[in-house]
Amino acid sequence: MARLILNQLGKDFGTGRAAVSSFSLDVREGGFLALLGPSGCGKTTVLRMIAGFETPSDGSIHLGERLLADAAQSLPPEKRNMAMVFQSYALWPHMSVADNVGYPLKVRGISGEAHRTKVRDALDTVRLADYAERRPADLSGGQRQRVALARCLVTSPDVVLLDEPLANLDRHLKQEMEETFREFHQRSGATMIYVTHDQSEAMALATDIAVMSEGRLLQVAAPAEIYARPEGRIVGGLIGRGAILTLPVVNRERYLEWDELQDALHAANTNGADILVRPEDVVIGVEGAPAAVESVLFEGERYAVRLMLGNGQRLRAFSRVAVVPGEAVRVVIRAGWRL
Ligand code: ADP
Ligand code: MG
Repeated sequence: MARLILNQLGKDFGTGRAAVSSFSLDVREGGFLALLGPSGCGKTTVLRMIAGFETPSDGSIHLGERLLADAAQSLPPEKRNMAMVFQSYALWPHMSVADNVGYPLKVRGISGEAHRTKVRDALDTVRLADYAERRPADLSGGQRQRVALARCLVTSPDVVLLDEPLANLDRHLKQEMEETFREFHQRSGATMIYVTHDQSEAMALATDIAVMSEGRLLQVAAPAEIYARPEGRIVGGLIGRGAILTLPVVNRERYLEWDELQDALHAANTNGADILVRPEDVVIGVEGAPAAVESVLFEGERYAVRLMLGNGQRLRAFSRVAVVPGEAVRVVIRAGWRL
C-alpha cells in the first residue's frame, strides 16, 4: 500500500467547461477520505480517473512511486489494484454468498485453499462468516451490502473507491451502514475514498474531508477542523449548520468573540465581513439584539430555530425551551468565524 497522489488533475470532456480543474490531493495510506460536494461538481469524474475508467486531460495520478495515469498514458483499471463500489451492489442471485465474494478471485485464477482463506477473511471482516452458504435473497439489505463490501475486499485492494453507496437508503439502514463502513475501514486497513454530497455522512465517516465545487478542490481537513475553520463561503455553507451574516467587524482575527459580534449586531450598517455563526453559539434569552422567530423545528432534545434579526439578516439557533413563530426574542452571539 502507499499514498495516493493527485497532482494538478484536470478533465475536460470537450463540453466547453472542464469537469475537473487543477485538482491536487494527497490521500495518506490507510486514510478514509470523503470527497464532498454538490451534485455535478466533478466527484464521480475524479473517482473514475483514480480507478482508470477515465483518462486525465491534465496532471497525474501516482500510487506511491508508481505513475498510474497522466495525459499521455493510463494504466488500465485491472492493473491498479483498486476496487470501486457503486450505488447499486449487484450480487449474483443464483450464487451463494461465498461464491459471490470469491468471484473476483476466480476471475484472477485463484483457487483451492488460497481462495477459501481469502473468502473467509473477507467475510470475517464484514462479520458475515456464518452466512457463507446463503443466497443473497435470504439476506437483509444491510447484509447484502456487506457481501458487496467483502467482495471488493477479497482481492486486497490498495484503494477502495466508493461512489455515494448510501444515497438511496432509508435513514435507519444508512446509520447501520455508516457503522459498517467505519468498521470495514478499521478492520481492513484499506485506503478509502468515499464520494458523497451529504455533509453529515462525510463528518460521521471520514478521517479527512475534501470539499469540492465546480471541479475544484476548496479545502481538505479533518472533520473537526473543517467544521471550526471552514475556508470561504462555499465550504462554510456546505459543512454543518449555521448562518452567514455580513457584519461590520473591525477585528482582524478570524475567530471573533461575542463582545465585538454583539456591537456589530446592533449596527444598522450591514457592509462588512462574512461571518459564519453556528447555531450552538447563539443564545436566545432576555438580553442582546432583537430578533423575531421565523420557524421552529422540534428535534426531540431541543428546538432548531430560524430567526430574523432587526437588520433583515437570518440566524439559526438551538433552544431548550419552546419558542413559537412570530415571537419576539433577544439573541447574543457568543462566537463567529470570519470566512
Ligand atoms: P458529480 O459526481 O459530482 O455529481 P460528475 O463528475 O458526474 O459530478 O460530473 C461533473 C461534470 O462533468 C458535470 O457537468 C457532468 O455533466 C460532466 N460530465 C461527466 N461525465 C461526462 C461525460 N462522459 N461527458 C460529458 N460530460 C460529462
Ligand atoms: Mg456522481
